[in-house]
Amino acid sequence: MFEFKVDEEKCVGCKKCRKVCPKGFKIWDYEEKSSGVKAVVKEPSFCLFCGMCITVCPVKAITIKIK
Ligand code: SF4
Ligand code: SF4
Repeated sequence: MFEFKVDEEKCVGCKKCRKVCPKGFKIWDYEEKSSGVKAVVKEPSFCLFCGMCITVCPVKAITIKIK
């Protein structure tokens, strides 16, 4: 089991997470919210735990915890 989160308050909608992710379009999507474009994890089960999205995110909005 794991917990995969994007902190919407931090996310600036740069879409680097999807660009860098080996499973990019399977996992990442974006939604237009009142506060701007925000990353949404649509299917976390494809995650390979490579950590690339965490590294590339300019505002450290992504956390993945393995339980
Ligand atoms: S840890 Fe790797 S596989 Fe998982 S969402 Fe981030 S970039 Fe994609
Ligand atoms: S890389 Fe970070 S700031 Fe950019 S869209 Fe993804 S979660 Fe948001």
